[in-house]
Amino acid sequence: MNHSQHLKIQNSDDMLALGIKLAKLSLSNAVIFLQGPLGAGKTTFVRGFLRGMDYKGAVKSPTYTLVETYDFPASKVLHWDLYRLSHVEELELLGIRDYLHQPAWWLIEWPERFIKVLPDADLIINFKIDGTARELILEAHTPQGEKLIKAAQG
Ligand code: ADP
Ligand code: MG
Repeated sequence: MNHSQHLKIQNSDDMLALGIKLAKLSLSNAVIFLQGPLGAGKTTFVRGFLRGMDYKGAVKSPTYTLVETYDFPASKVLHWDLYRLSHVEELELLGIRDYLHQPAWWLIEWPERFIKVLPDADLIINFKIDGTARELILEAHTPQGEKLIKAAQG
């Protein structure tokens, strides 16, 4: 399954709104790869998503911690940023295997070099910078990813 969809996001509020919309669907957990250059809006999307989960606190970029976890009554969100990670072993030291056994949303920035140890993506979002706008290509890889794409369009 590999259905894709383009989306133009005009500003950072619209990026937040996209994250909020996907969280509000209240689907069961999914794995989303967030791919694209620095400053493309990946963390902004995650901020929106957490806002959509009614999380009120600050969302720190996990650039140094690699992962930030957020616990909700019905689920958990793992926000990964693997930009600074050089060796797959570091992920193993962080206990990625334990995370894999718990149900959670995985929102992963810079997944590309670590595909082998990460769970398979339901949805891949490719971010491109176009001035102040962002060009997104959403690719569904599972039925769960399809649902997310449909919601993103609506
Ligand atoms: P990344 O995590 O991809 O490195 P961030 O979300 O941290 O990117 O940063 C994106 C920056 O670009 C933020 O400062 C945000 O306010 C700004 N920005 C400007 N226009 C947009 C847009 N259309 N969508 C998302 N972010 C935007
Ligand atoms: Mg980021």
